[in-house]
Amino acid sequence: MGKAQLLKQLENECKKSDLPLRQDATNLVFGKGNADATIMFVGESPGRNEDLQGMPFVGAAGKNLDKLLAEVGLSLDDVYIANILKYRPPENRNPLPEEIKSHTLFLIKQINVIKPKVVCSLGNYATKFFLANGDVDKMKEQPGITQLHGKVRMIDFDGLKINLIPLFHPAAIIYNRKLIKDWEADMAIVKRETQKTL
Ligand code: URA
Repeated sequence: MGKAQLLKQLENECKKSDLPLRQDATNLVFGKGNADATIMFVGESPGRNEDLQGMPFVGAAGKNLDKLLAEVGLSLDDVYIANILKYRPPENRNPLPEEIKSHTLFLIKQINVIKPKVVCSLGNYATKFFLANGDVDKMKEQPGITQLHGKVRMIDFDGLKINLIPLFHPAAIIYNRKLIKDWEADMAIVKRETQKTL
């Protein structure tokens, strides 16, 4: 079975699973992009637009992510995009550890199907999740995104060697314009690292 089919199967499994936050959500937001991609972007949780459309990064933060992709010469055909949480938390509040634990069981399975060479983690939650190698209880101990953004590191995640590129969350760029310079410098790094894998 091809990767796209495996992901579809996994999505159906996820839909049937009784995950926290499912009750209040409109749609499951599983992932989008190319199942055969070598580059993956992982965000935090779906917002209102994502919940309504059942697709990650279709709202304002998604516009910044689209710009990033275009500026580094990538399209949705080159990447796969998913989130830590598969359902929107109420009022877009921060994810809770128990939610991260259950939802990332599916993210880990997605990663094991795609086997990306590069993962761009968007914001604190995704970055800490990868640095803690998926151990949610160890996320608190990890340094924050302000310290880590743009610093590429090789991680051994669930037996896969992945080049992790921590990036500011594309929504943070909307609220804090001071981050734009850093964000632009990080894009050069994303370009350098992703071109190696294409
Ligand atoms: N922010 C995220 O982290 N993910 C989305 O899908 C949308 C906004």
